[in-house]
Amino acid sequence: MTPPLEPRALPPGSVVGILGGGQLGRMLALAAAPLGLRCHVFTPSAACPAAQACDALTVAAFDDTEALARFASAVSVVTYEFENVPARTAEFLAARVPVRPSPRALAICQDRFEEKSFLRSAGAATADFRAVDELDGLHRAVAAIGLPAVLKTRRLGYDGKGQAAIRADADIAAGWAAIGQVPAILEVFVAFDCELSVIAARGLDGDVACYDPALNVHENHVLARSTVPAPVTAATAAAARAIAATIVRRLDYVGIMGVELFLSGGAEPVLHVNEIAPRVHNSGHWTQDACTVSQFEQHLRAVCGWPLGDPARHHDVIMENLLGAAAERWRDIAAEPNAALHLYGKDEVRAGRKMGHVNRLYPLGSGPPARKLTFRDRP
Ligand code: AMP
Repeated sequence: MTPPLEPRALPPGSVVGILGGGQLGRMLALAAAPLGLRCHVFTPSAACPAAQACDALTVAAFDDTEALARFASAVSVVTYEFENVPARTAEFLAARVPVRPSPRALAICQDRFEEKSFLRSAGAATADFRAVDELDGLHRAVAAIGLPAVLKTRRLGYDGKGQAAIRADADIAAGWAAIGQVPAILEVFVAFDCELSVIAARGLDGDVACYDPALNVHENHVLARSTVPAPVTAATAAAARAIAATIVRRLDYVGIMGVELFLSGGAEPVLHVNEIAPRVHNSGHWTQDACTVSQFEQHLRAVCGWPLGDPARHHDVIMENLLGAAAERWRDIAAEPNAALHLYGKDEVRAGRKMGHVNRLYPLGSGPPARKLTFRDRP
């Protein structure tokens, strides 16, 4: 029997407001069209990837309250495509229109200390950590948790920016200078075997759906490839999904969350949560072509109060990010029989800039993604 529809569900034709105009906003807008939903993007920069795909665009600063008020009155729900939307912007909007995920979830994810403290309170394992506010505090944190460790700014860090490795006492002063002497956390360095992520969704009705964990490989601190299935045991995959499910439940979260984990192998694999992202996530792009319902559609379903879609995979897949000049290979990639190409419409090519990605599909269970991988947690 069909379950009753969530009373707050927004019908097709509704307008979803998206804060941010990057490629994630573009892919949300592209996923909205088949559902009959419209997207109105609010972005500080007119020349953005989402502008080419959305139904309406507001170009204004995130602290422009007049523009925000107009935006709020033009949309049925607001969501974000990146996490550095000022908390005050989210709160201003939330007083006028539903904002999903909640400003509270956004605020927790914006501050690494709040984030890790929340994760611990939710029962998720994380690297041991301490808040650091000044150089003396950094010395105390090193004495408390030991070395090697990683010093990270509490706010505005991404893709390895705002981080410094502290391997020996001699690195402490330089590390503090390198991150700009701003509030930070010091984390134990985790000697992980590999990095995984789980893309989790929680609907407005509380239903939770998690996609299969991806194995993520970074190059120069930027995601290079995600491989699914990750070559881990079924028990490890289930444990990773269970951690992600607990996190979204404990936050009363609505939407897609990217949960990044470190897997340390050995007889008893250990999963530490590194980071949670309150939005669709680069390591979930594989769902566009390997699942019936992509993370982008799933996010829209969640924030609009629709039933969540089935996160099951119908293919094995490797997602490769096309960074900088790599996107110039588009002709070759387009000619590959098993490749789905996604380009973000960015005019200016810069080294390391995310220009697009390609999902290479393999028959379910055929194993090509896992073949090249070596680490201890092989099934
Ligand atoms: P983050 O910005 O927290 O996602 O960190 C970027 C990358 O730095 C991660 O993907 C890891 O490869 C590495 N990293 C971050 N924190 C740690 C840690 N505590 N131990 C080991 N590696 C880390």
